[in-house]
Amino acid sequence: MPKRPVSRRGRLHPVRNPLFAALRRYAHTLATAATHSKPCAAYAAIRPLQHGRLTDNSMSFIQIYDTTLRDGTQSEGFTLSGHDKIRVAQRLDELGVAFIEGGWPGSNPRDAEFFERAREYAWQTALIAAFGSTCRAKGGPEDDANLQALLESQAPVCTIFGKSWNLHVTDVLLTTLDDNLRIIEQSVAYLRAAGRRVIYDAEHFFDGYQADPSYALETLQAAIRGGAETVVLCDTNGGTMPWRLEQILHALKATIQHPFGIHTHNDGECAMINALLAVRAGAIQVQGTINGVGERCGNANLCSIMANLELKMGLRCLPDGGLAKLYEVSHFVDEVANVTPNDHLAYVGKSAFAHKGGVHVAAMRRSEQSYQHVAPEQVGNKMRVVVSALSGRANILSKAEEHGVEVSGVENVVGVLNDVKELEARGFSFEAAEASVAMMLRRQQPDYRPPFELVDFLVNVEHRQGRGIFAEAMVKVKVGDAVMHTAAEGNGPVNALDIALRKALTEHHPQIAAFHLADYKVRILDGQNGTDAITRVLIDTRNTTRLWSTVGASANIIEASWQALVDAIEYGLSLAH
Ligand SMILES: [Zn+2]
Repeated sequence: MPKRPVSRRGRLHPVRNPLFAALRRYAHTLATAATHSKPCAAYAAIRPLQHGRLTDNSMSFIQIYDTTLRDGTQSEGFTLSGHDKIRVAQRLDELGVAFIEGGWPGSNPRDAEFFERAREYAWQTALIAAFGSTCRAKGGPEDDANLQALLESQAPVCTIFGKSWNLHVTDVLLTTLDDNLRIIEQSVAYLRAAGRRVIYDAEHFFDGYQADPSYALETLQAAIRGGAETVVLCDTNGGTMPWRLEQILHALKATIQHPFGIHTHNDGECAMINALLAVRAGAIQVQGTINGVGERCGNANLCSIMANLELKMGLRCLPDGGLAKLYEVSHFVDEVANVTPNDHLAYVGKSAFAHKGGVHVAAMRRSEQSYQHVAPEQVGNKMRVVVSALSGRANILSKAEEHGVEVSGVENVVGVLNDVKELEARGFSFEAAEASVAMMLRRQQPDYRPPFELVDFLVNVEHRQGRGIFAEAMVKVKVGDAVMHTAAEGNGPVNALDIALRKALTEHHPQIAAFHLADYKVRILDGQNGTDAITRVLIDTRNTTRLWSTVGASANIIEASWQALVDAIEYGLSLAH
């Protein structure tokens, strides 16, 4: 069922920042006017805030221009359907970015579909931008299919890219330097005349400047003459060094006084620093993607950029409360694109505020600032204590608090710590298996009664004529005073064990029906030993509200799986109590 604008608006967090309220009002006026094909009315509405630059006496508001849906999808292994794109755009709008580039409507039907659906939606803060190129060399904008597609998208903002590098003009575009200036100016002017806001992306600007500074600047002048509200300097090949970028920006500002933005790629791993330096040099807009996805090594990572702008540079780029949604948006994008999140991303990675070394954790318990550069809650992340062989007592105590387990004495903490160290030496890894640690703590409590105890299990794997591989498990467990004895078939030995164990427990613990095996990972440790090697099994289990991870390790894969399975079920049952 399509989401309706009215109900969404009702749920929005009230925006207190007057600057932001102004941006919202004018974005909304524009979007509404554009969707109703009244471009002139839209333009009248935005004139007082031309260039989109919102400033008051105390702060600058940096425009965040998100291109996850266009440049981001150029990344290998990162694809979004038309429907996915709308879902991501809605999250970006809730986060509060200024522009969402939806795609290149002239290039493929999926992007055209996005704009069609985007027209039906009342965006709260963001303006939707359509991306395309200048008109063809030696041709005019009126009969250019690419520019027509931009207009047909009805996006209130059109972003077009053109050539700044003389080599690209003569050897790729195969035209003259003058003709290139003409098509830039005419294409921008054409879209402006049709009532669109136009952002000009100067492709290869920094490389072009190195080759011929005055020509690169002339291309920007052409876009400005055409009516571009912002010219965006692109480090398309991503190889510009920060000090060179700064020199070029200072030289540019001596010649051109016009609002400019920055679009950087990460091939020299300088995308983010280059973007921040550009802001320091006066850029009003930063283009990038969520989690830095993008072609080759990626685009500038907007998550880090937004956090740095607001927390480190004293600039605003999101509405009140926006930054605290960063973690959630970052993970949402990965989830929709079905890619594994990078735990080590700054600010939004799961490990960004994880503490493992015992000395660090002990210090953190005294002062949260001791090993954290910002409070994780500011970006919607949270501090985590990782339990491993490197842990000290403080890690265990923190874990116990996190799981609401009362620890009765120092001996118990030391006991669990020693168990962790000994088990890790045998191949367990508790870093990703917090539920197994929680169970070790619970089992230390004097009044703890396990919900079941194993008596026997038996697993059969056979190859039967005509039936292929066949797996069957028998489980005998004690639940209270009763002994439950069950058998089950499965598509493999672990699956059969899982089903048999659940069957045995369902009568006494009906909530087990809501547990699902979400993931089962096997890793071979100590690879030189061949089939003798230690196998580590990690199991993720979920119910309707939570997901928890458990671990087992043994030279026998069935035993390792059983250990992880028992922890998973016991932990799940303890949640219910
Ligand atoms: Zn790019």
